[in-house]
Amino acid sequence: MPRALKVWPLLTGSIRYEKTISTRNCGHGEFIDAPILAYLIETSHGRILYDVGCDYRKVADPALRATYFDPMRPQVEPPKMQEGQRIPSYLAQLGLTASDIDLVFIGHLHFDHAGGLCDLPGCDVHIQGDELAAARTGLDGAVFADELANADQWRIKTGEYAVAPGVQTIASPGHTAGHMSLFIELPRHGPVILCGDAADLSENLVEEIAPGFCWQDNEALALASIRKLKALARTEDAQLWPNHDIDFFRGLPGFPAWRD
Ligand SMILES: [Zn+2]
Repeated sequence: MPRALKVWPLLTGSIRYEKTISTRNCGHGEFIDAPILAYLIETSHGRILYDVGCDYRKVADPALRATYFDPMRPQVEPPKMQEGQRIPSYLAQLGLTASDIDLVFIGHLHFDHAGGLCDLPGCDVHIQGDELAAARTGLDGAVFADELANADQWRIKTGEYAVAPGVQTIASPGHTAGHMSLFIELPRHGPVILCGDAADLSENLVEEIAPGFCWQDNEALALASIRKLKALARTEDAQLWPNHDIDFFRGLPGFPAWRD
């Protein structure tokens, strides 16, 4: 019998920052605590990770933490992450290892989404070509160059495609050049759209507010992606999952529970 689609939201850490990071021109002086999420998806054709959280070493080692995260102060505080929040720790609780992951789909290359790749050596990684090209310019302060070191081994993709039966990638550029969201047809719960950082907060979706950071300051592109995701949710009767919204996250199943 084929395995049914299911998704585990994985809390890989948290990060406190000025709300304007998530909501462009809104929330000056207001700080929020945001979950840093990855998602494990089981399909009939294997297991997929959508994003992988931070590089644990850069958070746990004081010298590395200062090097990488002090420059982001005071707007962004260093992330918090425990050993048990590394992806392999979550996999181990399910009796799995990195070798049981068939595909790591990286929605975008910011440190809180791609840093954890160092914990998943040998995994098949998918990234959009324009995302990687923009990340390699060095112009995006939320991309750490050393986290692109193995990019020559990644699969460079263009545009939208099905990664497995019932799992479809959705282009949602704006926050970054090649940002991708993920559409998952859950059998019981119905379709879900993992927005990624196209929509950090429910507020981004409801109020149609662009993320604070937009690649090349292209706010219009980010807003178009928010509207695209909303339109898709309407036509497919899908639920939109914002990516850094602590209140929304609290309504999701807590590991090891899943949504199917
Ligand atoms: Zn993020």
